[in-house]
Amino acid sequence: ADHVDTSNVTEVSDWACKRGATLTHCNEKFTEALELLQNHAELRNEASDYSRALAFRRASCVLKSLPFALTDVQQLIGYKDIGEHVRKVLADILDYGSSPEVEEIRNSEWFHKMKLFTNVFGVGPAIAKSWIDKGWQSIADVRLAGSINKDWRISWGLAFYEDLLTPVTMQEAEAFETLIRTEMKKISPLSIVTVTGGFRRGKSNGHDIDILMTHPDEGAETNILSKLMGALNKCDLVLKGYFTQNTFSSEMLSDDSKKGLRSHFDHFEKWIGICKFPKSFQTDRKLQSVRDSSETLPESAQQLSHYSRTIQHQDVLPSEHVNISADNTMSPCSKHTFKTDDKQKSLTLKRERTEMLEDSSPKSKRFKYEDLSEKEVISLANSDRNWTARRVDLIVSPYSQYYYALVGWTGSKHFNRDIRLYAQKVLGLRLTSHGLFDMKKGEALPASSEEEVFRHLQLPYRDPMERNC
Ligand code: ATP
Ligand code: MN
Ligand code: MN
Repeated sequence: ADHVDTSNVTEVSDWACKRGATLTHCNEKFTEALELLQNHAELRNEASDYSRALAFRRASCVLKSLPFALTDVQQLIGYKDIGEHVRKVLADILDYGSSPEVEEIRNSEWFHKMKLFTNVFGVGPAIAKSWIDKGWQSIADVRLAGSINKDWRISWGLAFYEDLLTPVTMQEAEAFETLIRTEMKKISPLSIVTVTGGFRRGKSNGHDIDILMTHPDEGAETNILSKLMGALNKCDLVLKGYFTQNTFSSEMLSDDSKKGLRSHFDHFEKWIGICKFPKSFQTDRKLQSVRDSSETLPESAQQLSHYSRTIQHQDVLPSEHVNISADNTMSPCSKHTFKTDDKQKSLTLKRERTEMLEDSSPKSKRFKYEDLSEKEVISLANSDRNWTARRVDLIVSPYSQYYYALVGWTGSKHFNRDIRLYAQKVLGLRLTSHGLFDMKKGEALPASSEEEVFRHLQLPYRDPMERNC
């Protein structure tokens, strides 16, 4: 075109988190191509690939937020995230219907195998490459090789490859959420359970289900996860996973290393693993049928009495344990500096957490399938079964950090990356799933809603549906 209307260009922000992006938009054929290039760079995983991957993603996000379907690359003049390389790819798609670079990757055997292998739970680009180097072509080849590593995730990931590759549906997510809510109500009536991740952003399926939990009494959240897992195991829904303890501490505010608040990993207590989803999750949202079917599954009487004992032992109303001082604990992230008092408090809390964990240990003995050998895992996968293996992430946040945790665990991954960089570059603040921190003052900015998180960041509020960057 000779004349292209670029009047809307200046209105668009440089920041994806400011613009927002919905799941559907009018430039999908372009964003699909750019995200394939991003994916390819991530899988190559060599020195400069991280920034290349990021550049493709940023460009893709610009296209997602365009209010019109791209018809001419001139329409992108002025957008800082559109570089030469991207412009060429887009021009090719506009001119010839596809980009030779993209199609070559799409058809390449290497890319195909890397995607195949990195789809195994616990396998990243490095392991996938080593499998290709061994000459393996398929999952069947890897399975034939037998025991190849000590990481349980890979053994389970290989055994349940087909299950885990089949997307989790919204119905399954809702059924599981209902189940978790019901169990949590019994454990701790005031607890709050929220499905986060892609489902909260409106996706109709996902590779896993992410559930964030908290309790309005600060400190009462510390023992709910181990109780919940005990309850799920009693229903015979737990296959295999691992706990991590809450390792967040105020000392991190003065720690500038990668291990501290800089890491994109958070420090919450969580359980990451694989659960059994009865087939009835697909069709029936009513909890009762799930519980009925789990009742019929064999469970030793000894095991059951062990559980009722454990649960009775731990079943103390959280509010009896926690002092709710007017100025502090009940208001989320009450404005405070992370200095002596809080340091002491955080140490006490941490000790209590550790004691609690030791008290219910050894965790690994608690779950029915925890100690299966690789062979037993394979025969479990090959057995006649009325359930599907599903990846589950369960995260526990103290209430004072909850709304930041909610933003962090809602994502998208790129939305997080962008909003955190924005906080750093524009406001000089550090944003993580634990809070928004002024590192110079050693201060945390409290938030009692997601809206407040956005207000602190001086950003327009974005609904989860608009965080699909
Ligand atoms: P999918 O539908 O494929 O599961 P998703 O958006 O839910 O997509 P996840 O990998 O499940 O992706 O992650 C959900 C959100 O939680 C992401 O936004 C990610 O940034 C965040 N997240 C995932 N793992 C961690 C972690 N270990 N520490 C901190 N945040 C994490
Ligand atoms: Mn997810
Ligand atoms: Mn997840």
